[in-house]
Formats: sequence, structure tokens, C-alpha cells
Amino acid sequence: MNTKDEDDIGVVFRKTTGHYTVHTNGREIDCSLSSLIHKQLIYSTADPTSMHRKVQAVREIEHVDPVAIGDRVRYVEAGEGRGMIPLASTHSKEASGMIVEILPRQSKFSRPAPMPGQRVFEQIIVSNVDLVLPIFAVANPSPKWGLLDRYLVAAQAAGLPSLIVINKLDLAWKNPDFQEDIEIYRRIGYPVLLVSAVTGEGIEELKAALRDKQSVLVGKSGVGKTSLLNAIQPGLGLRVRAVSNGELGKGRHTTTHLEMFRLDVGGALVDTPGIREFGLWDVAAEELAYLFPEMEQYVGRCKFGLSCRHDQEPGCAIRKAVMAGAISPYRYQSYMNLRREL
Ligand code: GDP
Ligand code: ZN
Repeated sequence: MNTKDEDDIGVVFRKTTGHYTVHTNGREIDCSLSSLIHKQLIYSTADPTSMHRKVQAVREIEHVDPVAIGDRVRYVEAGEGRGMIPLASTHSKEASGMIVEILPRQSKFSRPAPMPGQRVFEQIIVSNVDLVLPIFAVANPSPKWGLLDRYLVAAQAAGLPSLIVINKLDLAWKNPDFQEDIEIYRRIGYPVLLVSAVTGEGIEELKAALRDKQSVLVGKSGVGKTSLLNAIQPGLGLRVRAVSNGELGKGRHTTTHLEMFRLDVGGALVDTPGIREFGLWDVAAEELAYLFPEMEQYVGRCKFGLSCRHDQEPGCAIRKAVMAGAISPYRYQSYMNLRREL
């Protein structure tokens, strides 16, 4: 009867239309969501700083799922709450219940999800994320650092730390530039982990970095995510792959089927296969330079102050820093590329 009990709180690991798998104390509970609180949830979970968007969400996009993977939710188990049908067997492995509240999100990793014929809305990929792991390969496929910059900015915008993981270290001979390239990121202050799913190098460090955290993996297919997950935990990669081969499609659908997986070392992770378009959500053009940690200190020091676009303006402190070698020209190029999208 006491729905405020700590025992009635779990984490959403999986969702399919109308159904949510909530993990709690080693149990899985198949939950529905009360239609009565559906609207209320959209209000209460929207970003409080964007009133405009908040109202839009309710008026126009009622089908947006207010529950995200990673959400901590309060639920009522069947048989406990008022008016619920008791389970036929109390020993049933998969219990069922209903989500009655979403607890405030500590963080959320979002992207703009275009819907045909509608305006763009926010798709929360995962909530309550502790760590973003952009995964690239040294070679096969060769790394696209512009894409890494996009991931890093997206994480930075969400206020999340990133750990750059470079796999296929055993193929280092194929890419003589890569040490120099990753040095750019290390100098900025991003941690970089070099690993190989083939030789096992760096896998223990990767495990340690994931321990007790809710992590999200980003990276193109082919970089070795499945192999890395299998190296971290036997069978994990295959389970994740099964999900991504399932209902996900080609990333055109906004209802991407993602799932969070428990790690034996503690913690959980979500892979984001098929999310090809990693647009930036809720980033204003003027704030973009703040999301490049090495540029932040120059913002406001340009001749035109905060109105400088850091493009062709005279007296631009950021361009000056690029000329002086304090900011990598590649990173600056990424800044310009992303800026054009905003
Ligand atoms: P995913 O698409 O990101 O899940 O990548 P997979 O795990 O399926 O790996 C893609 C290909 O890269 C496969 O042929 C793997 O055998 C290979 N691969 C994965 N990790 C490594 C590695 O550390 N070194 C080398 N040389 N090949 C790897
Ligand atoms: Zn400037």
C-alpha cells in the first residue's frame, strides 16, 4: 500500500510501445504507464528552462514517450495498488506493474529527432547518464575526428564527461598519424583510452572506467563495439547486437529501439546503433564555442565581444589562438562545421 517506499523505485532498462521493463533489486518488472499521468509527465520532465518547448510538447507531440531509458521511476506492482488485478501466481518471474512517477533526471543525452511533416522535437536517448564513450578505431574504418568533435560537443552540452575509446590498437601501424591526432584531445583534457578487443590491451582499464556508472556508447558500426562488449563481458556484445539488428531500422525512425544492459562489474550501458544523425539538441550558435573547452577561455575577448562568430571578423581571439597554435585547426574546422548547422 505504501507507494512511497524505496522498494518501489526502479530503473527503466527497456521499452517497447506502451511497455517498460523496470529493474529493481535484481528483478524485472514489466510496467505500463498510466494514461492519466502521461500529460503530467511531459510537463514535469521537460527542461524547466525552455517554457516554450514545454508547452509545445503537450499540444503537438502527445505521442512522444515521456519515459526514457535510464529513468528512475516509482511504480506500483500489480496486486499492491488499488484497483490492480492480483497476479495469478505470486512466484511469477516477470511481475507486472504501472509506472506512477518519473523521478527528476540528473542528466539526459538527447538529439533532435525529425518527424516527417512535423517540427523537430527532443528525443532523449538515455537519461541519468554518467559517462559518454565515443568509440573509434585506429584504422578499418579510419577515424573521422569531426564526428568525434560532434559527440564531444553533444556530451558537453548535456553536461556529461566523455571518455574517448580508440579500439583496434593492434592496427596502429596502419595509421601513423593517430598518436598525434589523439594528442590534440589529451591536451584539451579529454581522457583517451587505447584498447584492442583482439589483444585484450586496455580492456581492464575500460572495465574499470565503466564500473558502477550508467554509460552510453556512441560510434559507427565496424569500429568494434560488439567485440569490445564481448571482451568486457562474455555474451554482452551479442545481446546488444541482437537488439540493434531487431527493430531499430536504419535510424530514420524516431522510435529507435534501445536497451540498457547490466554490467557484471556494476553499472549499466546503452549502445546507440543506427543513430546516424547526431544533431545537436538545444545548442545555440552563440554558445557553441563554450562547448569546446579549449575555446572557452577566449570567448568574449574578441574585438566584437560576444557577438563575434569567430569566422572572418577582425580581432577574433579564437582565430588568433588558432594561428598561434593554441587551438587545433581541425577542432576549429569542426567548430565552423557545427556552427553552420545551428
Ligand atoms: P561493431 O559494428 O562496432 O559492433 O564492430 P564489430 O565488433 O562487429 O567489429 C567489426 C570488425 O572489426 C570485425 O571484423 C571484428 O573482428 C574487427 N575488430 C573488432 N575489434 C578489433 C580489434 O581490436 N582489432 C582488430 N584488428 N579488429 C577488430
Ligand atoms: Zn571571435
